[in-house]
Amino acid sequence: MSWLVYAVVTIAVVVAAGFAARVVVRARRLREPMLVDCPENHEVAAVKLDPALATRAAALGHAELQLSQCSRWPERKACGQECLKQIETQPEDCMLRATVTKWYEGKSCVMCGKPLGTIDWLQHRPAIMGPDNRTAEWFDVTLEQLPKVFSTHKPVCWDCHIAETFRQQRPDLVIDNPWKGAGTRAAR
Ligand SMILES: [Zn+2]
Repeated sequence: MSWLVYAVVTIAVVVAAGFAARVVVRARRLREPMLVDCPENHEVAAVKLDPALATRAAALGHAELQLSQCSRWPERKACGQECLKQIETQPEDCMLRATVTKWYEGKSCVMCGKPLGTIDWLQHRPAIMGPDNRTAEWFDVTLEQLPKVFSTHKPVCWDCHIAETFRQQRPDLVIDNPWKGAGTRAAR
């Protein structure tokens, strides 16, 4: 009979591990910045959920949520957090990664012209270039900057971001190919 107990315990452990893994992934996504339509002025605001409540919501499937940060704070700190309804009813639409992925759709790297295609968020995350021509990754963007980034920044592929970062950090080691680079860098 012991094999039956062993099998039941094994299945229980596998199911529990699968559930825990899904909770961790969902909690991590709920704790990332989100973009909402602010009900007060109907402009995009970037918000972050209270991490403890977000984790609880991920585990239970539903829990009361609260904001811990908003790009309109501290001026609007006393608001009723009406935007939470959007996150509760359509969390996927508010998740930054979904919005960013949609923003890259059909776009090409502003530096090399390569189409960005399907986004690889794990290894070759695309980056952005600001009005000062410096490239950055999404986690470099502050909550206050997020709502405007989509109109002020341009898409950059991972390869160009890495090359540009190196160029900014070690300009003494970079020699541009005068034949290849003349067109692209002058075009910016
Ligand atoms: Zn590129």
